[in-house]
Amino acid sequence: KLSLRGVRKRFDDHEVCKGIDLDVAEGEMVCLIGASGSGKSTLLRCMNLLEPIDDGEIWLDGKDISEPGLDPQPVRQRIGIVFQSYNLFPHMTAAENVMLAPRRVRGLSRDDLRPRVTQLFTRFGLGDRMEHYPDQLSGGQQQRVAIIRALAMEPQIMLFDEITSALDPELVGEVLDVLRDLRKQGMTMVLATHEMGFARELADKVCFLDAGRILEQGPPEVLFSQPHEPRTKAFLSRVL
Ligand code: ATP
Ligand code: MG
Repeated sequence: KLSLRGVRKRFDDHEVCKGIDLDVAEGEMVCLIGASGSGKSTLLRCMNLLEPIDDGEIWLDGKDISEPGLDPQPVRQRIGIVFQSYNLFPHMTAAENVMLAPRRVRGLSRDDLRPRVTQLFTRFGLGDRMEHYPDQLSGGQQQRVAIIRALAMEPQIMLFDEITSALDPELVGEVLDVLRDLRKQGMTMVLATHEMGFARELADKVCFLDAGRILEQGPPEVLFSQPHEPRTKAFLSRVL
């Protein structure tokens, strides 16, 4: 379980997260929605300590992981993140990209990793693409490789930041299928997304971010059809 309490994050004198309280239970899918600049990406980056927070606490399974001075590395292994840009190394095959971090960080060999990595590629429809280089793969395939790369670290929680935004519309579906699959397997996930239909279909909880605050949160069937806050209503009327 991941819990944020009063999380604040500022860049210079611009406060981007203004006291965020959020609970993500095990096996839950939480979607963050909100206008550009509302703080979704920053909040995700704070959750796995890519950004230090200025105030508040982040608890993972009963331990405060945001204490200053704590080594962020073990936390980043337990909380994986995938970005809009896949950031695969162009000179390495898909399989080598996926094995890099587990080899370096967890000290596993290629032989140790091969069975699990092969299984992940097969599960996500890329069994015949392991030895391809990124420029030999479509955007949707590259994004699936990036997801496999994060999963190869065997994280407990996965964060996804607009992972379909850079894809051609016909490739979005195959990446959303991966998320559906993970959801079914009980992976705990937090997504920043503009895919409202997807959030509505699969999220356990949707949080509307407005200028660094969670203005409103609830199950999708409530938030999308009966939003309370005028700003939530205005946002939804623009995007739905
Ligand atoms: P989008 O939907 O466009 O991805 P977002 O909700 O993810 O937007 P963030 O990327 O979290 O928004 O940005 C929130 C605010 O923080 C923006 O005003 C942005 O300019 C600012 N910001 C983000 N990262 C930095 C940084 N490293 N330095 C300074 N300002 C930043
Ligand atoms: Mg963003």
